[in-house]
Amino acid sequence: MILENKIKLANLPTKIEKLDKLSKELGKNIYIKRDDQTGTEVSGNKVRKLEFSVKEALDNDCDYLITCGGIQSNHARATAAVAAKLGMGSFLVLRGKEDNELEGNYFFDKLLGARIKFITPEEYSNNRAQIMENIKNELSKEGHRAYIIPEGASNGVGSLGYYNAMLEILEQQKQMGIKFDAIACSVGSGGTYSGLYYGNKVTGNDATVYGINITGDREYFLDVVESLLHELIKYTGQEISINRDAIDIVDGYPGLGYAISRPEEIEFIKHIAQLEGIILDPVYTGKAMYGLVQEIKKGTFDRHDNILFIHTGGIFGWNTAQRSMIEL
Ligand SMILES: *Cc1c(COP(=O)(O)O)cnc(C)c1O
Repeated sequence: MILENKIKLANLPTKIEKLDKLSKELGKNIYIKRDDQTGTEVSGNKVRKLEFSVKEALDNDCDYLITCGGIQSNHARATAAVAAKLGMGSFLVLRGKEDNELEGNYFFDKLLGARIKFITPEEYSNNRAQIMENIKNELSKEGHRAYIIPEGASNGVGSLGYYNAMLEILEQQKQMGIKFDAIACSVGSGGTYSGLYYGNKVTGNDATVYGINITGDREYFLDVVESLLHELIKYTGQEISINRDAIDIVDGYPGLGYAISRPEEIEFIKHIAQLEGIILDPVYTGKAMYGLVQEIKKGTFDRHDNILFIHTGGIFGWNTAQRSMIEL
């Protein structure tokens, strides 16, 4: 079975908790799956994907991991941690300028021993794959064999991590004696959503899987998800029917754009922290859960009773600009 083709890096299964007070506020049963607790150094959703990607790297005798992301990329930090743990090297291609203030994920990247190259946003958009290929060639001159993981580990093999997570959810709901009829997550590079969507379909489960994009727009992500679903099918050999209209990307919540916060999002994060003792991140889960709650209030989720939100992590991504927006 393809899903056994992984190494163990994450603390699984992650628990599912009911948010009693938020449920009362909204008149719906709201649950949260704590994928922010998959680990400490590796915390968040990316390590589920790395369990599959890094297995492929090891099977190919690689001793270096190359990946890319924003300067505060959770994925880059998780990759650096995994590489250190496994005795591999890591090389991160980060979008932006070298930050004099070492903070958050970028600080941990350094602490974990990653080699880092900064590139401009233009280079990142147009040329990051080639730049990673060039680094791979340079590393081979040093005698290393490198494996390239794309942004967010969102390709066919990485997305298996969230196909696997969907099976975990199905098992947990059986044990809990409930049925989640809506499952929601944030969408950044699309692998988390695609894996969940695929797992839901391929098992014949009939939950609606919602993805709330925190950058880009619906049309863009429909393309991304469609192509990831085709890649998943290629990996597993298990067909599903792909109907573009049935891909539930909920647009409207990127706000001011990637990693830029609005006061209402930050207020919402503070509200959830003080209501439920759960800390969301400003880049992904804060925006996505804010969007989910707005949609519930608008009535979009009226036909659902038990709604599961995936907390995909991101706590290390808080930066000075976002922190200074909070009145404490
Ligand atoms: C990367 C990330 C996401 C988005 O997941 P994708 O699979 O890239 O769509 C959500 N939350 C956090 C905290 C992340 O780091």
